[in-house]
Amino acid sequence: TEACLAAIEGAGALNAFVHDTPEIARAQAAAADARIRAGDAPSMCGIPLGIKDLFCTKGVPSQAASAILAGFKPEYESTVSQQLWDAGAVMLGKLNMDEFAMGSSNETSTYGNAVNPWRRGNDDTPLTPGGSSGGSAAAVAADLCLAATGTDTGGSIRQPAAFTGITGIKPTYGRCSRWGIVAFASSLDQAGPMTKSVRDAAIMLEAMCGHDPKDSTSADIPVPNFEAALTGDIRGKKIGIPKEYRMEGMPAEIEKLWADGTAMLKDAGAEIVDISLPHTKYALPAYYVIAPAEASSNLARYDGVRYGHRAKLAAGDGITEMYEKTRAEGFGHEVQRRVMVGTYVLSAGFYDAYYNRARKVRTLIKKDFEDVFAAGVDAILTPATPSAAFGLGEMKDADPVQMYLNDVFTVTVNLAGLPGIAVPAGLDPQGLPLGLQLIGKPWEEGELLNTAYVLE
Ligand code: GLN
Repeated sequence: TEACLAAIEGAGALNAFVHDTPEIARAQAAAADARIRAGDAPSMCGIPLGIKDLFCTKGVPSQAASAILAGFKPEYESTVSQQLWDAGAVMLGKLNMDEFAMGSSNETSTYGNAVNPWRRGNDDTPLTPGGSSGGSAAAVAADLCLAATGTDTGGSIRQPAAFTGITGIKPTYGRCSRWGIVAFASSLDQAGPMTKSVRDAAIMLEAMCGHDPKDSTSADIPVPNFEAALTGDIRGKKIGIPKEYRMEGMPAEIEKLWADGTAMLKDAGAEIVDISLPHTKYALPAYYVIAPAEASSNLARYDGVRYGHRAKLAAGDGITEMYEKTRAEGFGHEVQRRVMVGTYVLSAGFYDAYYNRARKVRTLIKKDFEDVFAAGVDAILTPATPSAAFGLGEMKDADPVQMYLNDVFTVTVNLAGLPGIAVPAGLDPQGLPLGLQLIGKPWEEGELLNTAYVLE
């Protein structure tokens, strides 16, 4: 804990931690020491963690990296973070992210972007750590903490993990309680661990999972011992390679990464099969209808009354002006764009053409996966991202759709509610980390982690 606190002090330039909690960390570390001495050390005892700013942490600023939540200190703790503290973990502080988890580069944060600790060859252009869990990824990759929490609505654990050379798993929808995690798109959001190894991910995920009556979509399904699943034996497992993920213009290094990963699994005794997930091409448009629709509804609560920021009002301003000014000042541009898109696709007259159609596409995407699993496939291997980390500012002013294209390999997994893991799998020609993604069957995180363990 002390080593991490010192590392955080020295790494201000990464802008990974946005709020440090050294007093809490030292108290929890002392309690962990006592439990170890008493011979009663739970699974995460004394492990110093960073917590994404999307998680409500009692009495500690929790702003979802948004100006609209300035000054908000929750009266309660999220279920997932509480479970980590119960398992003996130590909180170092809160981690940077895209505002309300909307973004793929950490550049929509009210705190300014976090920075990737990796560099492209000899070029010192600062790179994005990815997003939205960019602070979590940067902090783990730079050894500021042993692991961090992330959340993933369309790729926000897996893409930043891939960009920083770490491991990140999004469990099956319903595995981790969403209670106390600021909502982005409630039917897609899941928490998960971001760690230095698959084994760490298994241990931390187990501590984070479990049924919670406070989240109506939390599943009442037993949580197995994920670490015990790490045997390294994948003989006879069927690994599907989906042809729709082989995109036109795919960079040679991504092709090679994918081929090398396939060969590793084959060498370990897995059977490799070509598969088709025919509705893949509709995933990104469906996601960018459904996620903003849900977001526009979830963000309606930031009205200048109940939380955080309220705009200064002029004489004669009424309640409408209060809402308008507060939301115009408090929400950044990307969040405003999502609210407008979401409101539009939900509006009378457009609802059937956009939102309902996207929901139907979602069902088809889910069925694509069900069919493949029913045919005997155990897991699906794809690249995690279409490229390595890009330079900060490189995409910021581009057409927002260019940024959305980052999520092309990850959003299908959220739409289908499946578990997905990104593992570091090599370097590109400029020395930047690249990640592979494995997609698993619902509730089979143990098997998924074990396959990832072979790739590690
Ligand atoms: N990049 C995606 C988006 O901006 C995914 C974000 C996430 O998973 N939270 O919506």
